[in-house]
Amino acid sequence: MGKEGRAKGRPMLKIKKIDHVAIAVADVDEALAKWRAAFGLEATVREVVESQKTEAVLLPIGDSNVELISPKGNEGLQKYLEKRGPGIHHIAIEVEGIESALAFLKGIGVQLIDETPRKGARGHKVAFIHPRATGGVLVELVEEDHA
Ligand code: ZN
Repeated sequence: MGKEGRAKGRPMLKIKKIDHVAIAVADVDEALAKWRAAFGLEATVREVVESQKTEAVLLPIGDSNVELISPKGNEGLQKYLEKRGPGIHHIAIEVEGIESALAFLKGIGVQLIDETPRKGARGHKVAFIHPRATGGVLVELVEEDHA
């Protein structure tokens, strides 16, 4: 195997941008009305994400988004809201090659919540990194699923 081949197979972290900042809310419609009134933002995506048991609404800002999420059976998010009230829940970083990014992070000892990606809003591949690894912020990796 040549040098190039090895470089391709090695886990790498390729960060593209902040995909979204997610805000936990109890009522998506109520939050949506506030964001619309304050900033004139309109939702481009609204869906119940079965795998996460949440409802998600995306409000694009430039090439990034604000994501409003509310629990639809997601106990963790429900407890989060009860304990802390609505507020910033996580930030999502778009990466290229999410499996490779996870392998890279695991390899350097970063604590992961998801070692393999699962299906998130918009059918994207997503995986969460433990807040302990980032100084208290829940970080989600996201990649468009081209499959
Ligand atoms: Zn998210």
